[in-house]
Amino acid sequence: MNSIIDKITRIAQQYPDQICYHNGNVSATYQQLDQQSDKIASFIQAKNLPQKSPIIVFGGQQFEMLVLFLGAIKAGHAYIPVDDASDPQRIHQINSVAQPTLVLNWSDKIDFGIDTPIASQDQLKEVLSAEHQDYDATKSVGPDDNFYIIFTSGTTGTPKGVQISTNNLLDFVNWVDQTYHYNHETKVMLQAPFSFDLSVFSIYPGLTNGSTLEVLDKQTAKNLPLLQKAILNSQATTWISTPSFFEMCLFFREFNAETLPQLQKFIFCGEELTHVTAEKLLKRFPNAQLYNTYGPTENTVAITSIQITPENLANFDRLPIGYLKENMEHRLANVEVKDGEKVGELIVSGPDVSKGYLNNPVQTNKAFEIIDGKVFYHTGDMVSEDPDGLLFYKGRTDFQIKMHGYRIELEEVDSLLTNLAEVKQSCTVPLYNKKKQVNKIIAHVVLDDKYKHAEPKELNKQIKAELQKNTMDYMIPNVFKFVDQLPISKNGKIDRKALIGEVNA
Ligand code: AMP
Repeated sequence: MNSIIDKITRIAQQYPDQICYHNGNVSATYQQLDQQSDKIASFIQAKNLPQKSPIIVFGGQQFEMLVLFLGAIKAGHAYIPVDDASDPQRIHQINSVAQPTLVLNWSDKIDFGIDTPIASQDQLKEVLSAEHQDYDATKSVGPDDNFYIIFTSGTTGTPKGVQISTNNLLDFVNWVDQTYHYNHETKVMLQAPFSFDLSVFSIYPGLTNGSTLEVLDKQTAKNLPLLQKAILNSQATTWISTPSFFEMCLFFREFNAETLPQLQKFIFCGEELTHVTAEKLLKRFPNAQLYNTYGPTENTVAITSIQITPENLANFDRLPIGYLKENMEHRLANVEVKDGEKVGELIVSGPDVSKGYLNNPVQTNKAFEIIDGKVFYHTGDMVSEDPDGLLFYKGRTDFQIKMHGYRIELEEVDSLLTNLAEVKQSCTVPLYNKKKQVNKIIAHVVLDDKYKHAEPKELNKQIKAELQKNTMDYMIPNVFKFVDQLPISKNGKIDRKALIGEVNA
């Protein structure tokens, strides 16, 4: 049996009635999770799919999505979580890269435009309401097999599938156990969509410890009055989100320790935690433990952590990202001295490092390097390190950005734009706010000759509408600037850095 599944099954046997999932009026127990995922596993195994072939699980943040994930693992197949907000092109691209043998669809979407067999929600409901079915646990996902594959933005316009094995995940779960001590009394917030690996910070450390996942789904998060109600009535004892999401919740004045005395721990990951935000948090929740953590999807969610105390706030203008997990090795590559400080690209090796991108040797070879017989992942993040090993984030080596918590490769946005008939060339750049966070993407567009004389306002609308058909909302530029030409650097390439400087001057 798979070791993660083993832990969850033991909880289900010991505490069958313990609540594992709570979202508004919906609650489900560990026993339900275990038994229902058995049925899904048996349903999948009956299909005799090629061994270890991946399965797409499509839907939102419902309890059944967790059932489908565990069902796939029990049956012996890694799952690819695809959010139901994904556009057709993304689904198509993920399907052609991953070559899955089945889609488990927990949504009302009917037409996926792909030829992979699809198990519809109605079919799955039938499976779940049938008698208990056993499955063959000897065929479950093994220690080095992929457990999940999460697709992230890719520079070439095609998303990259990060492969995370059971062993990668187990190591992460063990580290969370030692660092944050989840237990059966923990109610951990689950807010991130399942296609974003921040959700894993809640799901597996939670489920392997008998905790309750307190779900705040995207329908709630999108609607301010609903969100306010959900936040102020939340039972969560542990908060997990990006800093951006937390900042949004700071608009609610009653969001404080008086209203939510049980909320004792805040864990942030996914983007920079600013000094201002941490300060505000400790004012509203003076006795809470606040942690900043850092990690790319390729290293299984998070690999550094530090508790941000009032003392740390007093000592650092830009907060540290923490100390690396003890069982990981790191180096700084291409070190330069900036403002009297050594800064280099963080490269890491150890049990949390993915084996690479699914069916993508080119991008895998670019990002994963063997040094002294060990695989090191190039994070693309510039860091500095103090003599005690405390790491500080200093920006990127490339043009990957984080906006509102979403990971975006600007080259991917350009590639989507240049696919449009209207666009000859494009160069997108981030616009930063005072806190050094990206709050807009500005696209500089050279129009195709046919559109040169079109009305800019109309073009703006037209390009946005075109993009909406095949682009995730968060990747669509906020501003379009139509220009005659783009600046060219000394080596003859489009000079994105010059445009970044110009936009942020
Ligand atoms: P993702 O793969 O979506 O989790 O994005 C990983 C990237 O987000 C990292 O490579 C960093 O660039 C950024 N990131 C994650 N956590 C932090 C943090 N605490 N501070 C600054 N940047 C972060």
